Amino acid sequence: MKTDSSRKAFELAQDVIPGGVDSPVRAFKSVGGTPIFIEKGEGAYLFDIDGNRYVDFVQSWGPLIFGHCDKTIETAVMDAVTRGLSFGAPTEVETQLANKICNMFESIDKIRFVSSGTEAVMSAIRLARGFTCRDDIVKFEGCYHGHSDSLLVQAGSGAVTFGTPSSPGVPADFTKHTLLAKYNDIESVKKCFENSKDIACIILEPIAGNMGLVPADEKFLQDLRSLCDEHGTLLIFDEVMSGFRASLKGAQGITKVVPDMVTFGKVIGGGMPVGAFGGRLEIMDKLSPDGPVYQAGTLSGNPVAMHAGMASLDKITEDKELYARFESKAQKLVNGFKEAANENGIALQVDVRGSMFGFFFNDNEVKNFDDALKSDTDRFAKFHQGMLNEGFYFACSQFETGFICDAMSESMIDDCIEAAKKVLSDIK
Ligand SMILES: *Cc1c(COP(=O)(O)O)cnc(C)c1O
Repeated sequence: MKTDSSRKAFELAQDVIPGGVDSPVRAFKSVGGTPIFIEKGEGAYLFDIDGNRYVDFVQSWGPLIFGHCDKTIETAVMDAVTRGLSFGAPTEVETQLANKICNMFESIDKIRFVSSGTEAVMSAIRLARGFTCRDDIVKFEGCYHGHSDSLLVQAGSGAVTFGTPSSPGVPADFTKHTLLAKYNDIESVKKCFENSKDIACIILEPIAGNMGLVPADEKFLQDLRSLCDEHGTLLIFDEVMSGFRASLKGAQGITKVVPDMVTFGKVIGGGMPVGAFGGRLEIMDKLSPDGPVYQAGTLSGNPVAMHAGMASLDKITEDKELYARFESKAQKLVNGFKEAANENGIALQVDVRGSMFGFFFNDNEVKNFDDALKSDTDRFAKFHQGMLNEGFYFACSQFETGFICDAMSESMIDDCIEAAKKVLSDIK
């Protein structure tokens, strides 16, 4: 595979952009090699600047549920562009998109649009704190909620310690209100409540996608709901990734548990920068300008982005078979991987939720971040490189989720399984 142009482009980028990338996950750090520079996308395919073509299982890290250059979304965007890029004043499409979402989710009476998932979660946390008049929050090891200060906390000495920041530049003072618990482990959450009477909210990815794909157990979610009710704490589902991906209603289409607040991003913008947070009326009423909790954005609810999101969600809701198709393709893919791994004596854990799929090179089932960290990342790096050479583009880390888009055909899945057989036998 020829990658000279990408190599050259990466060198030039590194001269003027830190690490040559505008988001660190793009840098191929954990798999080696240089990132592929993209020329264009087309349906399920990515084309790099050397002329190589890949089946894209990243789909911009989730947003592109119909694949690249979907005609419906493209037309909606083009149309909106001719009327103006931004006004900083209300447009009707914001209300339309808000109605669409409020009607879909039992948990959401009102919603506010922002420009990224990070912003959505950061604002939701502020609102939860403002609503409850409490400072502490509980987050789980391995769950990612964007890069805002109080959420950028890693597992220090394990569960139930007050968080230490995982990045220089985040004052410890800012993260001392972030309590860490272990995913799928209710005892660790109970300990947080023993340590603090001041917990405003528990935030989690109800289907975790940022430590690889690790869904929460139904019982765990129910127990979180009970604990929150008992302590007057808000339960926030961060569905920035799982929303409109794991099912039409994301994790909320799968679990019976109803959260107090929800955050969205990725698919909700159809490929444009959009985030959103919503919840019960009494909570959302505390938000500025109705209430005292301040939050704002010059480009929030941007009309072009709103039209992209609207077109995307309309198309999603019109197609009643969409998620069944996703799930069957995703299941076929990981079953194929699993079989290929078995044939080569390689331990592989696989899982699927709608259009999201995950695979860990791991001897045991993965229920939390500690389990995920026991995966064989060297083998993953080799698998990643091998699959790239075969024309299949996967996220460049063992701890990411794969995405099916509707433009992916059965034969692409078949070809991908064949390629995996070859690659796994080369790296066994
Ligand atoms: C991607 C992601 C975010 C952050 O969204 P950005 O748009 O990258 O800021 C937050 N939470 C979850 C669960 C995500 O997957």
